[in-house]
Amino acid sequence: MNETVLRDGLLVTARAMAASGLNKGTAGNASVRCRDGFLITPSGRPYEDCRPEDMALMTMDGSWQGPFSPSSEWRIHRDILAAHPEAGAVLHAHSPFATALACHRRDIPAFHYMIARFGGSDIRCAPYATFGTQALSDGALAALEGRSACLLANHGMLVFGADLRRTLALTLEFETLCEQYWRALQLGEPSLLSAAEMAEVITRFKTYGRPQPTGASDAAPHAGSA
Ligand SMILES: [Zn+2]
Repeated sequence: MNETVLRDGLLVTARAMAASGLNKGTAGNASVRCRDGFLITPSGRPYEDCRPEDMALMTMDGSWQGPFSPSSEWRIHRDILAAHPEAGAVLHAHSPFATALACHRRDIPAFHYMIARFGGSDIRCAPYATFGTQALSDGALAALEGRSACLLANHGMLVFGADLRRTLALTLEFETLCEQYWRALQLGEPSLLSAAEMAEVITRFKTYGRPQPTGASDAAPHAGSA
């Protein structure tokens, strides 16, 4: 995909994050991998005022080109794209329910089988560190071990995926799970799925969306558009 298309897609995605309630104001940021590194949303600028050419182009050594400096969280985006070859896009949001959970510095346990969408039987919360620091990125990378999403303590959340479209969809799924967990907690601690129950879900997700042999149509999880 050429850089012009990726710039357009990145801006559309950043605006969609605001329109869907994931972000407000200038909070949150997004990146997409490109041939020479990655494109990332600029720092401190409302996305409705941005043009595609305002997206910063960064190389993996941290140098950048563009009319505005890159998001202050560029290290997280760079480090995820470097550590996860399967990642094509990274989104970071201060979405309401994920951030509320992150302020309690608690991992999200297997309260719902859709947790497995993010790679395992829980979603971790990275330790607190000042925004924009290498320490924050290092903590996030550790929390993302074997996962495609994490919370950031007293801050927000991170999700990565194959491309912008799928990562935005995953981010909305993640915020929905955070809301469901938050609501479940209003009634006390929810019942959790066992390790064996989650292992079965994880196995089924690995084949979800692939053609199934005749008579095996029950192999797909009941996951809507997931
Ligand atoms: Zn942030």
